[in-house]
Amino acid sequence: MKYESTRGKAPLLEFADVLLAGLASDGGLYVPTEFPKFTPADLESFRQKSYSEVATQVLTPLVSPSINSDDLAKMVEESYTTFRHPEVVPVRPLTTERNENLFLAELFWGPTFSFKDVALQLLGRLFEYELSRRDTSVTIVGATSGDTGSAAIEACRERDGINLIMLHPRGRVSEIQRRQMTTVESANIHNVAIDGTFDDCQDLVKAMFADTAFRDSYRLGAVNSINWARVAAQTVYYFTTASKLVGPNEPISFCVPTGNFGNIFAGYIAAQMGLPLDRLIMASNHNDILTRAHLSGVMEIREVQPSTSPAMDIQVSSNFERLLFELSGKDSSWLSEAMREFRTEGFIALPPNILELLRISFEAGAASDQQVAETISELHSTQQDFLDPHTAVGVNVARRFDSHNSPIAVMATAHPAKFETAVADATGLNPPQPEEIAALAGIPERCTELGDDLNAVMEFVSSVSQ
Ligand SMILES: *Cc1c(COP(=O)(O)O)cnc(C)c1O
Repeated sequence: MKYESTRGKAPLLEFADVLLAGLASDGGLYVPTEFPKFTPADLESFRQKSYSEVATQVLTPLVSPSINSDDLAKMVEESYTTFRHPEVVPVRPLTTERNENLFLAELFWGPTFSFKDVALQLLGRLFEYELSRRDTSVTIVGATSGDTGSAAIEACRERDGINLIMLHPRGRVSEIQRRQMTTVESANIHNVAIDGTFDDCQDLVKAMFADTAFRDSYRLGAVNSINWARVAAQTVYYFTTASKLVGPNEPISFCVPTGNFGNIFAGYIAAQMGLPLDRLIMASNHNDILTRAHLSGVMEIREVQPSTSPAMDIQVSSNFERLLFELSGKDSSWLSEAMREFRTEGFIALPPNILELLRISFEAGAASDQQVAETISELHSTQQDFLDPHTAVGVNVARRFDSHNSPIAVMATAHPAKFETAVADATGLNPPQPEEIAALAGIPERCTELGDDLNAVMEFVSSVSQ
């Protein structure tokens, strides 16, 4: 398996090189040159297999020839035994009351209670494995709107060869999210609070990667969803969820609360790998650039407005570039120009053929904070169920679409206790708190505060890297 850059000017690489590179050297994102295909018989066999067994089978062709199946199986097994649910990603009907074909795929049973753990638990192990094989080390710099940070920190703490610097937008992550990051006492973990938005943090990370000399001298690595390995790991639960709900030839839809477009793009990849999909529904909060682009054909950046679902307070959804690459028939010269224009003008019009293809595979909808609160409140009053606000965006949007007589699985991306303020505002009650979250309150925090200033951040990175 080889990987190519969406911008077409970087060398073709194998999986392990893509893992360590993060962003391609031409500023593009890596995607497989071709997709492995699973047959209906493969899909049927997934029904009898554990999550880790399916993960190993789905990921083996994607990581080959860099990593053999036995080593992969070991890392997969270790990653998913950290989950608090034996099925890893359990699936349940949304309601018993309404006659709906709606299900929740609970992606949040990992160490930090968000879906980011699914990919990052594996990513931390893949990094350590590859670094020790090469006898080298890496400085991972990442940006988080809240959940990636803690999941990356949990995945990388105490791992050999990894130094992790995580930027988050100061005051724009929930208190629990912040404490999950800043209370980790490990010499290789460094938190930085930036005076700015998540997009500002992400731009700082991108700028450090774009500086080749800096990137090479500190051996920068990425765990953001620009890293292909994350997308790859996230394809697995599309297969396992479908295998729990439909037969191998029956289509299913997924509704995915969307920020950086990494989760839902993994669903698109699963479809390319043979999973029969009806539709992928992208659900946004009021930061709805993708929903507007789907409706109007114009992708236009607006200012980020904080919402009750902060992990989706994003305007520039990095992984959308990967989708545009695929939909354009891998037209990297068009895409490079379009991305440049988008960056300089703040908007681009999607060509009609691409818009048409987008609308064939995807539906889209946005939910306001008020609609999210209503959904949380309704589910609580009818069945004492707590939804986190991101999942509630997904449920609110999914209910607007006809199910076409096939199930719609809403990706439940966070545990409600992680966003208890929004849940309590909507229901009048605090959701039950897992003891790991309750315990955070008593632990001292460690964090450095910096302005939205590239030089200051680079200086910090250099000061903590040996
Ligand atoms: C990261 C995150 C999202 C958005 O996922 P993307 O892959 O960025 O689209 C949604 N919900 C929660 C809880 C998250 O942590």
